[in-house]
Amino acid sequence: MHIFFDVDYTILSFDQILRRGTVEVFARLVDEGHQVYVWSGEGVRWGVVRGFGLEPYVSGVFAKPLGDFANGLRRFRVSPVPEFVVDDYPEIVSYFGGFHIQEFFHSRDNDDELETVYEVIRDLANGGHVDHPRWRPRSPECVALLEASKLGTGSEEGLG
Ligand SMILES: [Mg+2]
Repeated sequence: MHIFFDVDYTILSFDQILRRGTVEVFARLVDEGHQVYVWSGEGVRWGVVRGFGLEPYVSGVFAKPLGDFANGLRRFRVSPVPEFVVDDYPEIVSYFGGFHIQEFFHSRDNDDELETVYEVIRDLANGGHVDHPRWRPRSPECVALLEASKLGTGSEEGLG
């Protein structure tokens, strides 16, 4: 799957600490055949990706639309279409499907949420049943967007 991680309060705290398990979970996901991307409402965050040693695991770094997601992907040239997003902002998770992660605001609140994210992705990829209360399925709009992008028609134009 193409898995997109938000930056602020998802993998990075307000006081600039990387959430526990970020590197390990990225490495395991890549090892299991997934592609990991990093995107942010603040823009293209190569500084965070390089600064915390995430670059070897990351297939792309993008600016993240905060609304109007289908057009936003085109506007910010995000490609491929996300298949699973991890974000502390619920609306984007309800659109693309993924995991609405608990906000990681301060380093003293560091936790093992990313391990839970890994387990949910692993269960989904294995065709298993996922019933975690913070997992969200893809919206019908996003399903249509993904299908169009895979067919190479219409809405995929300009995504690359
Ligand atoms: Mg965030």
